[in-house]
Amino acid sequence: LISKLPNVGTTIFTTMSQLAAQTGALNLSQGFPDFDGPDALREAVGRHVMAGHNQYAPMTGLPALRDQVAIKVASLYGRQVSADSEVTITPGATQAIFCAIHAVIRPGDEVIVFDPCYDSYEPAMELAGGLCIHQPLSLPDFTIDWQKLADAITPRTRMIVLNTPHNPSGALIDLADLDRLASLIRDKDIYLLSDEVYEHLVFDGHEHASVLRHEELYQRAFVVSSFGKTYHVTGWKTGYVVAPAALSTELRKVHQYVSFTGVTPLQWALAEFMAAHPEHLSELAGFYQAKRDLFCDLLAESRFSFTRAAGTYFQLADYSEIRPELDDVAMSQWLTREHGVATIPISVFYQTPPAESRLVRFCFAKREETLRQAAERLCAI
Ligand code: PMP
Ligand code: GLN
Repeated sequence: LISKLPNVGTTIFTTMSQLAAQTGALNLSQGFPDFDGPDALREAVGRHVMAGHNQYAPMTGLPALRDQVAIKVASLYGRQVSADSEVTITPGATQAIFCAIHAVIRPGDEVIVFDPCYDSYEPAMELAGGLCIHQPLSLPDFTIDWQKLADAITPRTRMIVLNTPHNPSGALIDLADLDRLASLIRDKDIYLLSDEVYEHLVFDGHEHASVLRHEELYQRAFVVSSFGKTYHVTGWKTGYVVAPAALSTELRKVHQYVSFTGVTPLQWALAEFMAAHPEHLSELAGFYQAKRDLFCDLLAESRFSFTRAAGTYFQLADYSEIRPELDDVAMSQWLTREHGVATIPISVFYQTPPAESRLVRFCFAKREETLRQAAERLCAI
């Protein structure tokens, strides 16, 4: 067998969650809450199952849920989008990303991604025959080097992948960055894939620089989000893409043959909950900022050093004062096996990891008692 993805193995998320389960460690590795989504949302799924909402939803997603996405986009980002022609519900953001890439990438196309980079982009690109050009974000703040980006753009560049708030660093880009990007690609045939799954997890009063706010960039963008993150139900694997009608049409051609549609009763429940509880969105940043602050305040007593994440539910921490001789993969294993806290090494999100990097990622989407227990163990090292 000649593998089509020779460089792909088991994801770090599976590896570390399995190790956490085997060793009984607290799992702060793979990103998911250890608490449940809202009662009313979960109760609605059962009700819609019993009400007979169990057959295929329309290919583009349940109209009521697409309407809710359009309402949200208008109220948060000031953009009027058509629920019919610009919003597509997908079985998770991962599937949305795959479909967006396959909708526009042809063999030989180049796609610029910023390292450390979420792991699902490159395999999707490879399967489409595209080539990822990895541009490292500048340390220590994980910012885009605009000159290097300008230099990386070639006539073969067909797409740039943005991810803000950024996994794993928690860094944000701002509206001025979007303007810079627009000026770089203005006269070029380059699409944008904007992975905004953590759009509501933005702290300290910052604003999420959604591509949906930017008229010029939106015209060439696929903007992806995930209900899993927003409603604490990652296992529901339900997300969406907002893109101009012409791009949505192409995306839907792929989506209709990758999955055709998403799970029907989940879409009913989400639509109903979004309509009844718009406050959930505005409360989310405060909810997660409190978790970040609890975890960081406790971790301040440890030998880890860190700058508080500006967004996402991930906190990076530098362990140079603890085991500088270990690379981050070995450090994550050691923390899991010997200290009962599972983490994610960030070198796996790089094509060429920075040699000096001594950073691991903690997920703080956890109950207060989990965060306290984890911090206690980390402070004892
Ligand atoms: N993009 C990023 C940056 C993520 O962290 C995740 C994590 N789950 C996804 C996409 C995928 O989201 P989903 O679970 O909805 O497929
Ligand atoms: N996005 C999650 C994370 O970054 C993992 C999702 C997955 O397991 N594929 O931890």
